[in-house]
Amino acid sequence: ATSIHLAARPEGEPTEDNFRTQTRDLPDPAEGEVQVRVIWLSLDPYMRGRMDAGPSYADPVEIGGVMTGQTVGEVIASNAEGFTKGDIVTGFTGWVSHANTKAAGLRKIDPSRAPIQSALGVLGMPGMTAWTGISELIGAKEGETVVISAATGAVGSVAGQIAKARGCRVIGVAGGAEKCRYAEDELGYESCIDHHAHEDGKAMAEALKAAAPDGVDGYFENVGGKTLVGVLNNMNTFGRVALCGMVAWYNGKNMDQSMPLPAAWGTILKNRLTVRGFIVADHWDRFDAFLSEVAPKIADGTIRYREDVTEGLENAPATFLSMLNGGNFGKTLIRVGPD
Ligand code: NDP
Repeated sequence: ATSIHLAARPEGEPTEDNFRTQTRDLPDPAEGEVQVRVIWLSLDPYMRGRMDAGPSYADPVEIGGVMTGQTVGEVIASNAEGFTKGDIVTGFTGWVSHANTKAAGLRKIDPSRAPIQSALGVLGMPGMTAWTGISELIGAKEGETVVISAATGAVGSVAGQIAKARGCRVIGVAGGAEKCRYAEDELGYESCIDHHAHEDGKAMAEALKAAAPDGVDGYFENVGGKTLVGVLNNMNTFGRVALCGMVAWYNGKNMDQSMPLPAAWGTILKNRLTVRGFIVADHWDRFDAFLSEVAPKIADGTIRYREDVTEGLENAPATFLSMLNGGNFGKTLIRVGPD
């Protein structure tokens, strides 16, 4: 079994030296465990946070520990009731090719319903995050204007399409002309702003003002930085911000792309904004409500999605680092093994 470990904690932007690969033989699974052959590994921005020490909503990966991650794989040996060889399962095995893992932490997937890797994307954690932000936090209503940042990514692409299906005007912010074209042509957003083409918060504010002259009612915040500055300056009274992530700042970069706290605070006050941070794990009891709204729209093509697939577990570190800088186009996945 091959596994990728945290070799050292990064200072700012991580490099491949922060990771170490290890190979060992696995014993038979213990009582209550199954042995899984991983087929798909999901790479997600939250993993950057797990590389740092210090308090957060989840424990960090220990130095030397296996990198955290959700996977889809096949059961190849079972020592647990209810699981048999050949079952397709998803769980948090980490960045590994094979694992002995507690069956209690696994969920079975029906491969006849959707491509199995969608359990890591549109029909999994990122999709659920998108739905939670739009429906539970922003409460997006017909006719409202909603801005989505990282608008073509795993979370953003689903968030924007859910808002659109609810009758909102959706404006995306994405990195590059190709992503913006996809947002407008394939995802059906009214328009998309290329943040690479606007150097600071002021320029972003002007671009947003042109795209949404009547202001912004809901903001699905994934990035922070100059995009946040631009959107905050265009929020309507009683607007809502679902604070999902701030990937532009994750590596300690772009710190000059901000606004003074008193100005931000004043904007929130004067415009009577609701800004609410959320972690999808707290909303898991609503997973069925998410599935009942979103799964049929994926099945009938109303909600589209892209996957950005890289072959080989050994490429996970480089792919992860690239994703944090916008190198991905759609849900970032590592193809670890064959179906
Ligand atoms: P994405 O597929 O959206 O990939 C990350 C994207 O971030 C990149 O493609 C890039 O898009 C964008 N990005 C990177 N750097 C910058 C920058 N400097 N300025 C603007 N955009 C940037 O990842 P996910 O969909 O998995 O995650 C999106 C966000 O949601 C992240 O912030 C993540 O942490 C958060 N999240 C939060 C959860 C929660 O429970 N709160 C759960 C899941 C995700 P582009 O090229 O378009 O700029």
